[in-house]
Amino acid sequence: MTETQSPVIREVEARREALVALCQDLIRIPTLNPPGRDYLKICEMLGGRLRGAGWQVELIRAEGTPGDSDTWPRWNMVARYEGARPGDCVHFNSHHDVVEVGHGWTVPPFDGVVKDGRVYGRGACDMKGGLAASVIAAEAFIAANPDFAGAVEISATADEETGGYGGVAYLAERGYFDPERVQHVIIPEPLNKDRICLGHRGVWWAEIETHGRIAHGSMPFLGDSAIRHMGAVLEEIEATLYPLLASKHTAMPVVPEGARQSTLNINSIHGGEREPEDGYTGLPAPCVADRCRIVIDRRFLIEEDIDDVKAEVRSLLEKVKADRPGFDYEVRELFEVIPSMTDEDAPVVRSTAAAIEKVLGKRPDYVVSPGTYDQKHIDRIGRLKNCIAYGPGILDLAHQPDEWVGIDDMVDSAGVMALVLEELLT
Ligand SMILES: [Zn+2]
Repeated sequence: MTETQSPVIREVEARREALVALCQDLIRIPTLNPPGRDYLKICEMLGGRLRGAGWQVELIRAEGTPGDSDTWPRWNMVARYEGARPGDCVHFNSHHDVVEVGHGWTVPPFDGVVKDGRVYGRGACDMKGGLAASVIAAEAFIAANPDFAGAVEISATADEETGGYGGVAYLAERGYFDPERVQHVIIPEPLNKDRICLGHRGVWWAEIETHGRIAHGSMPFLGDSAIRHMGAVLEEIEATLYPLLASKHTAMPVVPEGARQSTLNINSIHGGEREPEDGYTGLPAPCVADRCRIVIDRRFLIEEDIDDVKAEVRSLLEKVKADRPGFDYEVRELFEVIPSMTDEDAPVVRSTAAAIEKVLGKRPDYVVSPGTYDQKHIDRIGRLKNCIAYGPGILDLAHQPDEWVGIDDMVDSAGVMALVLEELLT
């Protein structure tokens, strides 16, 4: 820290042990998604801590959202601390869910092991380290500025890893991110402590199905193979769509740089007879496939219109249809997200940039995420454009075995967050 004289930075430094302990406590509640384990437990733990310090705390179940059930209820926590006078509200939003553990761990994933200046565990970097840093930043800020203006909010929300419908989307639909209530939002996702993430690319997922006619495999001429029809679709994608996507570049500062263009992944392909179950030793049956499906994952740029993205695929399919006798298809749209990018001149961006310079002695890098995160709901449903992702942790470690977050990184980014609060609320 270069700004050791600042009282709020001293308050953050004094809470180093508390920050580590809070991060460990959060990791020790295994909020696995799916299925959505222990959501109430983590909301009660955090809510109890903040309520004890004078915050107004609400626990909100996103009833009826995807995955919500009495066995796996989708709980969210929103806490608000009012200042001494009216003013803006700064909101820190973290998701509390974590992805499956997977293989390859050398430490227990839910113990919160501290080793070599790091806290290890599933969710350490994505994003319980960031959640802990924002809580400590808020506590340090309030201690150093008891007469501040406005309000601070902290939320811990469900299901970011599976689309955020039982979390930020649900809260945004109920007004929690309306511009009249909240003016600045920071999402402490692990983007590295010296980078400001302005937003993300867009997404369109669709299932394409080709149709055929079943027949005996020894007489394929009596049927019509949906798999061969899909082969024609894939050839057309290779021949025309991939070169087209590679030619579309963006001014968005997406990292890694390979994602500074339109991209397409084919998530799955399936046609014909089902894959045999494990342990089945019989031979497959000879049939011409009457259905073949692929799921495409198209990521698009702020310069592109989602209707054009969809039209590209439909016109490709129409071209194959015109060229190929018997070809027919259906497109089922599965999921879409509009790109989001906050302006570099937005107040929350300017304050965070200034705070990074003070704490780290360098100018921040501005980045955009190749994939989406909860900013999409805050932007589209909440209508709030003054939103960034900023938090400790190395993005590449997210969802990996032996995930960790650096203790110095958590302390530094908590210092940045506390200075942002001072800048915006005093
Ligand atoms: Zn995350």
